[in-house]
Amino acid sequence: MLSHRSYNIVRNNRILCNYLVDYLNCAVSIEIPPQKMKLLFLSLLFSPFVAPAQAPDTTRVHVVRTIAELKTSNSKDPFQEFVEIKRYIPNIIIDLRYATNQNCCHKPIYTNPTTWLRKIPAQQLKLAQAELNKIGLTLKIYDAYRPYRHTLTIWQLSTDKHYTANPRKGSNHNRGIAIDVTLADLKTGKELNMGTGFDSFTDTAHHDFSKLPSYIIASRRLLRQTLRKYGFTHVPTEWWHYQYKALQLYDVVDIDFIDLKKQ
Ligand SMILES: [Zn+2]
Repeated sequence: MLSHRSYNIVRNNRILCNYLVDYLNCAVSIEIPPQKMKLLFLSLLFSPFVAPAQAPDTTRVHVVRTIAELKTSNSKDPFQEFVEIKRYIPNIIIDLRYATNQNCCHKPIYTNPTTWLRKIPAQQLKLAQAELNKIGLTLKIYDAYRPYRHTLTIWQLSTDKHYTANPRKGSNHNRGIAIDVTLADLKTGKELNMGTGFDSFTDTAHHDFSKLPSYIIASRRLLRQTLRKYGFTHVPTEWWHYQYKALQLYDVVDIDFIDLKKQ
């Protein structure tokens, strides 16, 4: 895989080549003398060049953008409805990091967020929470449903595209079936040490990273095994990200948090 820096160099060179080809085609069509054309070519080639920002490719994904469309979709399958997590699992801890600076963009992305999941993953999460409560622990949610518009913003702002969801396909956060989550003490709310913070895009955050104290590896394993028991799968590179193993396809949704209440 290309690093972000290499990706940018390749991208900028490709854009520069396209510009030069267009420029030369134009010069030929207006019959500029060959000597002047050579000068134009060289002046363009060595002039400061800033590549225009590339718009994300959003053409491959169907996006539900209105409550009316969501209601139509939910009427076919009531289990597709969104559930507000804090109401459904009252003792769960919510700490939405995309409403703060503590995320990969280092700035707040959400304004006035609430926390939502589709009904079936929410039911399964409630069971996982009950099981953890029995051993004095609680789930702490960093992110859940994410309106598609924010995936576009995060993609544009993030410095490492390997770790951020490509808007071309949409994210399972946009589908309301993914959570970013950790474990915390039920009484104090203090997070268990997982070796890195949220959105730490490093090898240390990978599930198979073994150079960590055994108690950290045990905490990650406990989170993974508990959530797996209730149908959530992990990705290898982010210890905090889980997605519900849905049997049916959920639509990507771009409805603001506050509007979901009208569902
Ligand atoms: Zn995630």
